[in-house]
Amino acid sequence: MRIDIVTLFPGMVEPALAESMLGRARARGLVDIRVVNLRDYAEGKHRVTDDYQFGGGGGMVLKPEPLFAAVEALRTPGARVVLLDPRGRMFTQRVAAELAREAHLILLAGRYEGVDERVNEQLADDALSIGDYVLTGGELPALVVTDAVTRLLPGVLGAEGAVERESFASGLLEPPQYTRPEEFRGARVPAVLLSGDHARIARWRRVQALWRTWRARPELLEGAGLTPEEWELVDRFKRGETPEQIEASAPQER
Ligand code: SAM
Repeated sequence: MRIDIVTLFPGMVEPALAESMLGRARARGLVDIRVVNLRDYAEGKHRVTDDYQFGGGGGMVLKPEPLFAAVEALRTPGARVVLLDPRGRMFTQRVAAELAREAHLILLAGRYEGVDERVNEQLADDALSIGDYVLTGGELPALVVTDAVTRLLPGVLGAEGAVERESFASGLLEPPQYTRPEEFRGARVPAVLLSGDHARIARWRRVQALWRTWRARPELLEGAGLTPEEWELVDRFKRGETPEQIEASAPQER
């Protein structure tokens, strides 16, 4: 997969792409990420990329010409052009999975008061927001999208199966995770995780995932495809039962 990030501030983006998982994925040729300086596509002696907005109002707006020129130079057949925009549709794990199936993404990072609307109307195939807040530019959102998409590409993550258990993958938040030591400052790792009983562990994880989701993001439950038994567990949470009480009352299989 190829991802082009078009930005006025390549120096903000490059370092984040050189480290850790993204850096390794690039070095191993699992993803081809290119940072493109928008100014290289601006015309004239001063290579101007922004201008005052028509109709008044403070702040500068990115001009359409350099963005169109950049995309026209970079585009491959079937490339998907994505404008980062707080007014766009919400970027979620599902959208990340959708984008991970593309062969080529061109991410356009806005700046200042935003981008000439003709970019949204005529150049971009999609506009994505990473959340209901306004950042100074599209560089961090472009990195968020690049990171979330790249880690879904085949071979990028080491542990097979890890992605399936993660938050949002099943429609629920992830259950708690522990590593050594078994006891830390008086807090013990739940005994079930040390039991070696895979069926019990799977059930514990599912109950915990339901509990976490019910407490922090109850609106996700509707779309998570719960079984009637799982809805019954949610009812027990509502009646005040904790996962520990539910675990203690479960019949012990031998
Ligand atoms: N005036 C715009 C508005 O009210 O919607 C905000 C412009 S913002 C200061 C400048 C650029 O940052 C945007 O063009 C966009 O590329 C990026 N940006 C800021 N917040 C974002 C968000 N939540 N999601 C995606 N992009 C964002």
